[in-house]
Amino acid sequence: MCDYGGFEGDISEDILVRQAADLLDQWGEGETEINLSCLGSFFDDREVSPKARREILGEIAKREHIQLLGVESRANDVSEAKVREALSILGIGCCLEVGMGLESVNDFVRNVCVNKGLPLRRFERAVETIGKCGAHAVGHVLFKPPFLTEAETISDAIATITYLDSLQVRRIVLMVANVKHGTLLGELYDHDFYRPPWLWSVLKTAMDIPRSARDRLLIYGFRCGLPMTATGHNCPKCSQTIIELLEQFSGTGNHEHLYTASHIDCPCKTQWRVELDTDDLPPLPTRILTSLDCIEAGYERLSLRISDDLSAQMDAR
Ligand SMILES: [Zn+2]
Repeated sequence: MCDYGGFEGDISEDILVRQAADLLDQWGEGETEINLSCLGSFFDDREVSPKARREILGEIAKREHIQLLGVESRANDVSEAKVREALSILGIGCCLEVGMGLESVNDFVRNVCVNKGLPLRRFERAVETIGKCGAHAVGHVLFKPPFLTEAETISDAIATITYLDSLQVRRIVLMVANVKHGTLLGELYDHDFYRPPWLWSVLKTAMDIPRSARDRLLIYGFRCGLPMTATGHNCPKCSQTIIELLEQFSGTGNHEHLYTASHIDCPCKTQWRVELDTDDLPPLPTRILTSLDCIEAGYERLSLRISDDLSAQMDAR
């Protein structure tokens, strides 16, 4: 469902560093916090070579107005040596946040539905390593992984956020799933097996978690540098207003924006409640198999049609 691994190409280290430096130059000196987002994992040596990483960090260190750098990494790529090296290049004037996708605290959801390949213990160790070095861990939660119902999504996210809160990560990012072409979510969406989350569900989750967790919560997922097929939404009447309030909440940390959004009255709320109460669906493993079978059958039909077309062309010749 994300962009990781979706890029094919070869960018030289020099271009990568120059790209980062050019973007940093566009950053006003009044802006003190920066999030440097690569496609997937900043500490993955295949994605960002150690040399390029050092030089990019050096570019940030040169710009003294930057007091906080956020990067994203897979937990598996976090090591004490890499975090310590990053901190020593950044120097004392800039702190480092390392965001890592946990997605779900539930092993089945994380490693089967999302195919994350991440043992919980590995994530916990990465959080410990980051803290021990003097950097700050940030945990990402995927809101509405593939195959989950709306009600399952809410309880999964609440459990995951509460768990991250107990690990004392500095911030918790609720990533509201969006749909991109060429991903599993894209396929499920095209076959009517997936609807991006309702914003009412996002709000219910944000209101139902402990206050300590809400204080460190950020809600993202409505903007992306790559084209999106669909994002979290309600009905056309209320979606935009609620997304704006969610973004204001993330920008300011003021809980009032969440209260205002959740008290908006819109007829689509009834429709959402009906969907929440739907409990006659087969169990999750059955739903996974059914939807994947349907997608596969679709491809088989498509490849049969293509081979029919090809043989018709051959016959015509
Ligand atoms: Zn509405």
